[in-house]
Amino acid sequence: MTFWEERIARPLNALHLDTARSKVWAFAVLALLLPAVVTLASYRRNPQPLDDTIAPELRSVSSETARQLNDWLTERLSDQRTAASSYVVAENLARMRPGSAGAQAVGRLRDYLNTVRERCTGCEALSVVDARGRAVASSAGHTSGMQPTLEKLNGLQTGDALLGEAYWDAGIGKPAIVLTVPIRQTDGRFLGAFAAKVNLRSVADMLQRLAPSEPGDVYLVTDEGKLVMRARVSSAEVMRTRLAKTTTQALFDKEGTSVVYKRADGREVVGTLRRVPQLHLAAVAELPREQAQRQVVRPAGSPGAILAALLAGVGLMAAGLGLFIVRPLGRLTKAAARVAAGDLSVDLPVVATGELGFLTQVFNTLVSRLRERESQAELERLSVTDALTGLYNRRHLMETLSSEAQRSRRLRRPFSVLLADVDHFKQYNDTNGHIAGDAALTKVADILRKTTRAVDCVARYGGEEFLVVLLETTVTTAVLVAERIRARVAAEAFGAGRMSLSIGVAECPAHGDTPETLIASADAAMYQAKAGGRDRVVAVDGQPEKAKQRRGDA
Ligand code: GH3
Ligand code: MG
Ligand code: MG
Repeated sequence: MTFWEERIARPLNALHLDTARSKVWAFAVLALLLPAVVTLASYRRNPQPLDDTIAPELRSVSSETARQLNDWLTERLSDQRTAASSYVVAENLARMRPGSAGAQAVGRLRDYLNTVRERCTGCEALSVVDARGRAVASSAGHTSGMQPTLEKLNGLQTGDALLGEAYWDAGIGKPAIVLTVPIRQTDGRFLGAFAAKVNLRSVADMLQRLAPSEPGDVYLVTDEGKLVMRARVSSAEVMRTRLAKTTTQALFDKEGTSVVYKRADGREVVGTLRRVPQLHLAAVAELPREQAQRQVVRPAGSPGAILAALLAGVGLMAAGLGLFIVRPLGRLTKAAARVAAGDLSVDLPVVATGELGFLTQVFNTLVSRLRERESQAELERLSVTDALTGLYNRRHLMETLSSEAQRSRRLRRPFSVLLADVDHFKQYNDTNGHIAGDAALTKVADILRKTTRAVDCVARYGGEEFLVVLLETTVTTAVLVAERIRARVAAEAFGAGRMSLSIGVAECPAHGDTPETLIASADAAMYQAKAGGRDRVVAVDGQPEKAKQRRGDA
């Protein structure tokens, strides 16, 4: 384990985050919380973001409207000045005298005005007044309201142009404005005024073009707060509306910035104003407040919704991690526990890829090798075991005896064998049945196993005959072991009565140095025991076991 692994693992364990699943969840929640907290904190630190995002749009619409309106007016006035400076105008105005000459001049002037009107888009009517304010000639069309007051006419003597207020012209049924420019002679002498009534249709088109998308709006307003035109509403009504004084004040005072106010229809809006200096007009672009706020504060849903979406995303990720990492790991852990408990039937599905898939495959291979090894061992065990008693079988016994006899000859170390035969077993079988006989043999085998050492070889030699190889044991010690066995069997309660053993004892190499000769010696001793009355131990030297004789229970 590296230094850092250890460092991190300790606090995680203290927090009970010791399983892979809980770690994945903890990291997922942290990964969610960090950006969420930062996002929420930035929302809180920025409580009035209205101006930052909405202001540029409103500012650009109002400025562009003011600029284009100014351009429109400049162009209009320039055209009008050109028309007014024509020699036709000055000449005929100068000739204006009562009589036929005057009438002719008026006729020429009128013709000229009609020609100009035809070429001028938006011009409803044109008229010429002389220096004293008398209307001299007019074009066709509705000329009402075009006559400048004397005061204004006097102002025009030194001025550049006279711009009327935009108004609703009932005669033409359109909003209009009267523009008046001076007529001067080449020497600069003031001769009169050239007035044009221009409808504001092109201005209306322009407003429509520039207005922010619905329900946003742009409109023109006078210095006093009177509405002139709106992009989306008919002008006749608009011209009857007026902004509240405080609103007008605020809009003009904070020109170019966003102002929140209530419109005449009661709707709360955000607006930005830009003046059109020549016209004493201003353009105002506005958006309903709730829309502006939605755009700013909730650009893509509320913070709650964002958080919920993030949570769902992280939850899915954690579930995916759980599915692809934690689950296979959990399966491996459980399987390892089963194998440790000795269950080798485990075979895991290899679903994962990468390291986990590889690990699962390796695990399966290891378990199947263990299985093979175990079944091999079982086969080997079965091949040397007697099926009924679980003792070694005769084949294994003969192999053991053969190798031990060789070893004994080579090293001159003795070992002994006991040949035990159950007394009157045929009778037991006949009385109690073969199955009871089998059970009795198994019990005798258990006693043999328990009364000898693990290194000794205990085998079933024949039907009811057993042979024990006692390693590194002389005949004297072997007789003691044999007596212990005999006594245990004699004392044991068998299901259907008592049972006894006759045991012959022989030592290698003294009483035979091959398996066959040694067994023959032990067999002879065993027959002596039978002949001596059974339930006894006889060693090869022919002397019955002393202890038994002392007890005198033969
Ligand atoms: P003795 O005291 O002279 O040894 O008398 P005995 O009856 O034991 O002698 P005998 O060798 O004539 O009989 C052995 C009997 O053991 C014969 C056979 O029926 C029985 N036997 C041999 N193998 C088995 C076995 O696997 N199961 C059972 N139930 N009986 C067996
Ligand atoms: Mg026998
Ligand atoms: Mg017998």
